[in-house]
Amino acid sequence: MEKLNVPELFGSMVFGDREMRERLSGDVYRSLRKTIDENVRLDEKVAEVVAEEMKKWAIEKGATHFTHWFQPLTGVTAEKHDSFIEPTGDGGVLMEFSGKELIKGESDASSFPSGGLRATFEARGYTAWDPTSYAFIKDHTLCIPTAFCSYSGEALDKKTPLLRSMQAINRQALRVLHLFGNEDVKHVNTSVGPEQEYFLIDQKLFNQRTDLIYTGRTLFGCRPPKGQEMDDHYYGVIKPRVSCFMEELNTELWKLGILAKTEHNEVAPAQHELAPIYTTTNIAADHNQLTMEIIQKVAKKHGMVCLLHEKPFAGVNGSGKHNNWSVSTDTGVNLFSPGETPYENAQFLLFLCAVIQAVDDYQDLLRLSVATAGNDHRLGANEAPPAIISVFLGDELTGILNAIKNDVPYEGVEKVQMKLGVHALPRFFRDTTDRNRTSPFAFTGNKFEFRSLGSSNSIACANIMLNAAVAESLRQYADELEPVKGTDKFQSALHDLIKRVITEHQRILFDGDGYGEEWVKEATEVRGLSNLKTTADAMPHLLDRKNVEMLTRQKVFSEAEIHSRCEIMLENYCKTVNIEGLTMVDMVRKDYLPAIEEYLYTLARAVDSMKSVSEKLKCRYEISTIEKLTDLTDNILTSVEALEEALAGLKNCKDIFETSAAVRDKILPSMSTLRGYVDAAEMLTSAKYWPYPSYGKLLFSVQ
Ligand code: ADP
Ligand code: MG
Repeated sequence: MEKLNVPELFGSMVFGDREMRERLSGDVYRSLRKTIDENVRLDEKVAEVVAEEMKKWAIEKGATHFTHWFQPLTGVTAEKHDSFIEPTGDGGVLMEFSGKELIKGESDASSFPSGGLRATFEARGYTAWDPTSYAFIKDHTLCIPTAFCSYSGEALDKKTPLLRSMQAINRQALRVLHLFGNEDVKHVNTSVGPEQEYFLIDQKLFNQRTDLIYTGRTLFGCRPPKGQEMDDHYYGVIKPRVSCFMEELNTELWKLGILAKTEHNEVAPAQHELAPIYTTTNIAADHNQLTMEIIQKVAKKHGMVCLLHEKPFAGVNGSGKHNNWSVSTDTGVNLFSPGETPYENAQFLLFLCAVIQAVDDYQDLLRLSVATAGNDHRLGANEAPPAIISVFLGDELTGILNAIKNDVPYEGVEKVQMKLGVHALPRFFRDTTDRNRTSPFAFTGNKFEFRSLGSSNSIACANIMLNAAVAESLRQYADELEPVKGTDKFQSALHDLIKRVITEHQRILFDGDGYGEEWVKEATEVRGLSNLKTTADAMPHLLDRKNVEMLTRQKVFSEAEIHSRCEIMLENYCKTVNIEGLTMVDMVRKDYLPAIEEYLYTLARAVDSMKSVSEKLKCRYEISTIEKLTDLTDNILTSVEALEEALAGLKNCKDIFETSAAVRDKILPSMSTLRGYVDAAEMLTSAKYWPYPSYGKLLFSVQ
């Protein structure tokens, strides 16, 4: 392989700051920068110039088309390509791209989910340029990251509310920072580094599995003799084929300015992880969408398929996405970094409290922000954080908070009286030893790691809720403290506030084993935390009064948008499971039952070919297998009929809430029963007759 010049390669397909500075005049550049950095409305004349330069750059890089690239509520990204060509009248063409085309695009919204908004509002939607996320070239197309809204301004995508939530936290964090005299801070930003897990399997085997093709996960399959029990895959040597793939993946991501940094094998066989360096949340969200797309594309080139599903294989760890999140100022201060002076420490503690309170008050929103049919298989399955949301702080911080709560000296390395703003806090070092992987929401030194996200989720949903909830705590603190700002009452008011928050929200703090049965009991029965096990349980809470009030107060969603989103997410859940159910029926009726039947016939013929009864009776293997398989086929038939009936019954449900409850209570259990019988039959049937590649083959095929 030729040697890569990474600095030259990096961002080469992005119309980023470097290109802008080189190609735009000083005035235009500064005006655009102001739009990007301070959210100032873009001047139309400026847009015209930017569009022209962007087009020239794109054509130099081989682009022929442009598209407004957006994230509708389907979960994947959407693009509608237009070519640059404009007829000149003499049979020729010109390459055109106007400021108007850059800023705004028309799009027929009617085929994207709108969850009822379509009925109330116009079917047409429009896409609007998000200048804070740079345009890039992919497949000869200039992609312009955009927001997607209905004509009446209702968001139909994930980017719009994400940007709104970033503004919400900016507004409230600034109020709080100004209380501490940080008047120089003009802007506060949230950053995210999402760690992406995925599986790689051989393309040929993938093509043979109907379930993988239709649903992205295996719906059947008994455990292979070897799974992940040896822990020999985690951080193990990367296989040559995978390492070739990773090399190309990195190159492609770097070209798009994506800061792909670490890559390693994960716990399960065939499972891997990619982590980028963190960046501003909406860019991180765009980059993660792109990363998921590019991983799949590059895998295909290497004869493999990348599975982004949260639980592609039963009995093997699923895939998640760790959302490393922090808040920092435009003056370069990470608000979750404990400071050097007493004042900085008090500020740090207040921001820490804001997060603790937010997670406690809006557990349900955080839980439902990661709820999908796929992720339901992980959360609470003793391999991923539980469905119960709690916060891990580590010994040192917990000790400090307890000292404040109980008005006692903190007995860390040295004894310190915890009088805020007067004494320096003990310096707590970054706790890099946090390997309590069982916590869904862990403080890891200078950031929080929200670990409940599913591998195929857009990170937008989780960050919308997180930003909004923290903005809400900060709003309350600012309301309370602003009246005493600059007076001698400030210190004690601050101290009382922090003490009160710690006391009231103590229940959300938990450093123990989140996988244990005892925790479920304690969390739900003693602490009163919510345990929303499925999407059907979690999603309706989006409509709870307190949630609607907070989200509208923070201007993250309108009430109509909240209702539409709830409906769309539940629809997605029902549709996903419905397709899985139908796929199971198809596989059982067309392939599994006929295959078992054929094998039974072979066995029966073997017995039949014996001449005497005594000889026949000696066919112990054949006879016992026939007995067991006959029982199993009977059970398979009964349960496939039950599943068919349950699926047919869905249409009698009167609304989406009833349908999703039926999916949870009837379809999923029927699917699991059916699977049990088929997997048992797989153990008894000759591999020669089994119609689908086994787990062993799927998981250990890529060398
Ligand atoms: P881990 O121990 O979980 O591997 P790392 O320190 O390697 O943690 O970081 C994992 C992810 O967290 C990376 O994507 C990294 O860029 C991101 N990250 C690190 N610091 C921050 C921060 N201050 N804010 C947001 N994300 C961060
Ligand atoms: Mg991590």
